[in-house]
Amino acid sequence: MSEQAAERCDIAVVGGGILGLAVARELIARRPGSSICVLEREQELGTHQTGHNSGVIHAGVYYVPGSLKAQLCVAGAREMYEYCDRKGIASERCGKVIVATDRSELERLDELERRGTANGVPGLRRIDADEIAELEPHARGIDGLHSPGTGIADFPAVARAYAGDLVEAGGSIATGCEVRGVSVNGRALRLAHSHGVTEAANAVFCAGAWADRLAVAAGADPDPRIVPFRGAYLRLRPDRRHLVRSLIYPVPDPSLPFLGVHLTKHIDGEVLVGPTALMAGARDAYRLGRVRGRDVLDTLAWPGTWRMLSRWWRTGITELNHAALRSAFVRAAARYVPELEKSDVEPSFAGVRAQALARDGKLVDDFVFSHTDRALHVRNAPSPAATSSLAIARHVSDEAERAFA
Ligand SMILES: Cc1cc2nc3c(=O)[nH]c(=O)nc-3n(C[C@H](O)[C@H](O)[C@H](O)COP(=O)(O)OP(=O)(O)OC[C@H]3O[C@@H](n4cnc5c(N)ncnc54)[C@H](O)[C@@H]3O)c2cc1C
Repeated sequence: MSEQAAERCDIAVVGGGILGLAVARELIARRPGSSICVLEREQELGTHQTGHNSGVIHAGVYYVPGSLKAQLCVAGAREMYEYCDRKGIASERCGKVIVATDRSELERLDELERRGTANGVPGLRRIDADEIAELEPHARGIDGLHSPGTGIADFPAVARAYAGDLVEAGGSIATGCEVRGVSVNGRALRLAHSHGVTEAANAVFCAGAWADRLAVAAGADPDPRIVPFRGAYLRLRPDRRHLVRSLIYPVPDPSLPFLGVHLTKHIDGEVLVGPTALMAGARDAYRLGRVRGRDVLDTLAWPGTWRMLSRWWRTGITELNHAALRSAFVRAAARYVPELEKSDVEPSFAGVRAQALARDGKLVDDFVFSHTDRALHVRNAPSPAATSSLAIARHVSDEAERAFA
């Protein structure tokens, strides 16, 4: 897919990850015959967050009731299973357990149960130590939650299928097409990019880790800024995969948007351990050593970074420890799967989370969408945005219908 970018179109969607493709697909389904073009910087689609994640279809347990995450995850998970079934894409409702290992976690587990129930998570129930061991024979905990509706899917294949739907409906996709400038030119938005210029009546920006830069270029407030958090994974050696049947998660700290080191069966049969959550030196820090001056400067020059660090420096040190010492990383997972040892794992891939950080130092938890002249911006779409992609696409398209009328 490397079509030349159109010189004119009704709506340009910037970013060919799972969200940009879902939004473009939804827009053309609502307005058949309109010209919708996706402009993607990389040569392939879905190479950033879409292709580097845990692959979990979240059921909606964690999110604050009433939040966009809660609404769009519960609906999105249902639609994601249906879509995968319809398209023959690998997915599995394998269920997950969230395990409390000591009494200090029980209050947080209560809160998760309350949130999940309020969000309408299908089949969510409290389980005791025996039931944890029945579901996951190698896991140990004093109390837990079972979410039978949580599962796994091949998100890169989903993104490719969205792209197929879009093209079939008459949309176009230009890859290797980095948008470098945005300006309003009379009755159109002028997008300058590596193929030249596209004049679009309107645009939707779904640029993941680069969302803030494009939003600011289009005239938006610089708050929030994207700060990249690297999430590295280990994987179990094939002869140790039996330690995990499906998905085992710890009880997370509800004041952080990360879920803690978990054990996840991947759709390809691997079992992943991770991810870490370490502030990174580049928005594409798939290698730990990758540092980009502009990305570092953007992170360090943002007042929110220093406010966040002053609050979370202890967590930062733990994450640094996980990233530097495999034994510490494995110990985090061995809290709830005690048989797990350092020799059971080998290195796997890393992803980079596009995490919005507010000026006041808060890690923005909910999905954030905003407007500029003729454009909509997805400013914060961390996990569970892959799960929620079809529901987010509907939400963004509703907004687009109102804003672009
Ligand atoms: C470690 C990790 C684990 C996760 N686990 C899960 C999970 O289990 N379940 C779940 O639901 N979600 C999970 N997520 C979140 C999920 O992966 C993301 O929310 C989702 O992929 C976001 O999709 P996106 O299209 O917004 O971003 P991306 O996939 O990052 O796509 C953005 C695209 O925009 C393009 N772009 C950027 N700038 C430009 C430009 N100037 N011009 C043109 N194109 C541009 C990029 O090249 C990229 O392709 C996880 C994320 C990470 C990092």
